[in-house]
Amino acid sequence: MDASNLLDADLTLDLACANRILYDQDIVDGLGHVSVRHPTQAGLFLLSCNRAPGLVRPSDIVCYDLDGQAVSETTERPYLERFIHGEIYRMRPDVMSVVHSHSLSVIPFGATQRPLRPIFHMAGFLAEGTAHFDIQDEWGDTDMLIRDRYLGASLAKSLGDCSCVLMRGHGSTVVGNSLQQAVYRAIYTEINAKLATQALALGEVKYLSSVEAMLAAQTNDGQIQRSWNLWKSRIGNIE
Ligand code: MN
Repeated sequence: MDASNLLDADLTLDLACANRILYDQDIVDGLGHVSVRHPTQAGLFLLSCNRAPGLVRPSDIVCYDLDGQAVSETTERPYLERFIHGEIYRMRPDVMSVVHSHSLSVIPFGATQRPLRPIFHMAGFLAEGTAHFDIQDEWGDTDMLIRDRYLGASLAKSLGDCSCVLMRGHGSTVVGNSLQQAVYRAIYTEINAKLATQALALGEVKYLSSVEAMLAAQTNDGQIQRSWNLWKSRIGNIE
């Protein structure tokens, strides 16, 4: 394989921006990661080396195969949990981008196995509900991390056709049909969880119906670039 053409300059810049945006929006801290499938080689994906998302530069982006092996030149350590990305891309041909985070407001929903449903139109993409993954079901006591292909496949199977999977005692993973959509979904999964928790404390919650959620999601998908441009304007020049 010719490794020289694997890292398109525009795409590595967009992916580095996605990392900075997720940090700026409080979705990731020192940990968490975002990837994008290679635009022409479906068996490859782009992900930063083992760097805090808020510090990622375009030159940190590495191309991996779905087994998590680097196929572009790098001397840096990879993320331990890169198998989350490879196994979801393997299982879901429609997915072009994956965000994994430990964003705080989502954690209680994973711990209680309570479904995270759309409380407002911005989270319409949660119409089909969230999937739940409990690492203990198949693997017993672990350090909770998705540190190999088998754990990654187990998580991808739990995700099923959903846009978001809650990982008990760990975090969540969202998918999208573009880098921008996955970032949008990660941001609004966190906001939706915060609002749902507030509403549940007040009383019974009327969520969006599945049709309302679907219609809202369709409308929002046409507006993502506007939000992306705003989020991007906050992070400055990162090249
Ligand atoms: Mn993690």
